[in-house]
Amino acid sequence: MTAPAERKPPRPDELAQEFYRAALAAGGLCVQTCSSCGQTSHPPRMYCPRCSSGEWSFQPASGRGTVYSFTVSHYSVEPYWKERLPYTTIVVELEEGPRVVAAGQGWDEGVQLGAAVDVSVEALSEDFAFLWATPAGSADDE
Ligand SMILES: [Zn+2]
Repeated sequence: MTAPAERKPPRPDELAQEFYRAALAAGGLCVQTCSSCGQTSHPPRMYCPRCSSGEWSFQPASGRGTVYSFTVSHYSVEPYWKERLPYTTIVVELEEGPRVVAAGQGWDEGVQLGAAVDVSVEALSEDFAFLWATPAGSADDE
């Protein structure tokens, strides 16, 4: 047996780095929220897509949402993911509105569109948090 492959976290910059650092500081998913009109956005933007305000912050999100879309990968060149084939990548529509992309975990029964999801974050570096999507209520939180 060889040692399990490790993930090499990306090194996000600019707004993406702020998004991940906010999640790491809060210990959970955060979404960009406009200070003027309350619009939530993802991925983060310099200006609010509704009112064009440049005043915003990252606010803690519930992590609850539903499966908007998903794909099942049967091939990967990344050693970590090669060991987990086939794996699922899920687009989660959050209760707060925005959609985020997360890796599926614990979907032994298969993923269904519209299924309830909990999104959690796993710290991989001081600048990057990995997003996991588990079936709602499966209490897979670490
Ligand atoms: Zn706004």
